[in-house]
Amino acid sequence: MAKVALKDVSRYYGNTSAIADISLTIEDGQFCVLVGRSGCGKSTLLRTIAGLEAVSQGSIYINDRRVNDLPARNRDVAMVFQNYALYPHFTVAENLGFGLKMRKTDKKTINQQVKTIAQSLGIAHLLQRKPKQLSGGQQQRVALGRAIIRQPQAFLLDEPLSNLDTQLREETRAELKRLHQELKITTIYVTHDQVEAMTLAEKLVVLDEGKIQQIGSPEEVYNNP
Ligand code: ADP
Ligand code: ADP
Repeated sequence: MAKVALKDVSRYYGNTSAIADISLTIEDGQFCVLVGRSGCGKSTLLRTIAGLEAVSQGSIYINDRRVNDLPARNRDVAMVFQNYALYPHFTVAENLGFGLKMRKTDKKTINQQVKTIAQSLGIAHLLQRKPKQLSGGQQQRVALGRAIIRQPQAFLLDEPLSNLDTQLREETRAELKRLHQELKITTIYVTHDQVEAMTLAEKLVVLDEGKIQQIGSPEEVYNNP
């Protein structure tokens, strides 16, 4: 787990700034939600923290360590996108355990952790299936499990539920909330869904044209438009 901080971060594309002078601290274990209309810079902000996008100015800190020059693979953050991107030829169990296997974790530990995370996410009965034998909601649970199984310092989610139908979205949202309460991994979550923002956010950040427009608890933000 980790504190994530941005200090005066900007990212330009040519003359336009996708994000401009963003300063923001997400406390250890906090669930932070980023909202704002399409194009306001949510994905860019998330991608700079993940190291998938370089910053043009400013600093990003993970646990007070400046990580601007640290490649994505060394930042120890996990990111989940709206398309699940599972390995199609692997079973659910193999998908879940992949990151641990890459880190040369021993088989017994992998099996145990796969089982534990699958139980937390309600997919323990699906471990031997392939992704295409799963519903969208089940696939996204596998993607969440795969990202979180190695207990990253921070968990970054870019509209992870937006491809799901209403009922699955609600179920998976509740699942995510429970998982966060259980694991307390520092989480930054992008959505344009107000219900998701209200239910999940401990800290809510409203972006507008690349800048922070409002920041606070969901109650503070939605009661002071
Ligand atoms: P959001 O996730 O809130 O929809 P983005 O972070 O994707 O917003 O985009 C913020 C702004 O930056 C938009 O105006 C978008 O067009 C621009 N942008 C994002 N990525 C690029 C890129 N690779 N090249 C040029 N402009 C980009
Ligand atoms: P989202 O809907 O998730 O915000 P977008 O459709 O805005 O995603 O962007 C998808 C990808 O295209 C991102 O990697 C983003 O950086 C890139 N992108 C967005 N806008 C532009 C742009 N104007 N020029 C080039 N790439 C862009």
